Amino acid sequence: MPYWFFYEGSKVIQKQEAVKDGCRMHEKPVFSTGCLTFNRMFNDALHMLGLIIAALLIAWLFARRRRRYNKRRVDRLIDMRHQDFDNLLSRNNPYYRSLTAEGRDRFLHRVLLFIEGKNFEYIDIGREEAMPLLIGAAAVQLTFGLEHFQLDYFKTIYIIKDKYRYGLYKVPFEGHVSDEGIYLSWTHFVREFTDYSDGENVGLHEMAHALTYVNFTAREGRDNIFNQSFASFSEVARPVFQRMQTGETNLLNAYAASSYQEFWAVCIETFFERSAPFKSQLPELYASLCTLLNQDPLTPEKLLTPLSPAHRD
Ligand SMILES: [Zn+2]
Repeated sequence: MPYWFFYEGSKVIQKQEAVKDGCRMHEKPVFSTGCLTFNRMFNDALHMLGLIIAALLIAWLFARRRRRYNKRRVDRLIDMRHQDFDNLLSRNNPYYRSLTAEGRDRFLHRVLLFIEGKNFEYIDIGREEAMPLLIGAAAVQLTFGLEHFQLDYFKTIYIIKDKYRYGLYKVPFEGHVSDEGIYLSWTHFVREFTDYSDGENVGLHEMAHALTYVNFTAREGRDNIFNQSFASFSEVARPVFQRMQTGETNLLNAYAASSYQEFWAVCIETFFERSAPFKSQLPELYASLCTLLNQDPLTPEKLLTPLSPAHRD
């Protein structure tokens, strides 16, 4: 599972005349050519700046409208199908089961918003309603304490029936993340959420890769808490990783020693699936993960610091 974001004729004449007038005003007609060039460049830069601002404004308005539309849609869905979704998540996601009633409501809301922002592609497998819901839940579990939880850069999630070949790698994949999307073997996703005690969970593993990709590579959908805290996390994590590379063993899967990116993803799997032994054996690393993600899986409330009302959902 390797780791892996103008001109029109008449307007030109008008601009030239305006530039000459400007030069007379400054009593420097001798340098009219240079002045004309400078003023033309200045006007062009202003024109370009105006276009950029207009494009950004349109994009911001469009995004806001889409967020409001998605939120209304999600509210309607919850009104109509809350019990169905609650049952599905309770049966299949141990983290959701461990939440308080208020936490479950916020979790479900986030999952449905996450799903609204993604395209799901099904490869060699038919679509089932549980698929986007449970995959969205894996992402929301990881980002539950963060303000920005939608992994915005990733527009498409590919759900593949079973292990698959990727590129020139000789071993089959259970999942991976690339600039094209998040890929998951559905067979392994389900199996590893069913056995939620061995510290192996491809869903959480790939979402961990996706979170760092969003924050440090693609930089679309970054979260400030996560961004600012990652260096502090690494101060604790790097030495543990380096000791693993020299052969030291601990409760983390040995695959963590293959690269720092894999160490990070394996930490996330263990953080959620084996929280108590993780905290007991590597307390500083566990605490740094709690701070980084603003949550402690061992507490019913999960969040260390409440999020502002604007980011609760
Ligand atoms: Zn990986």
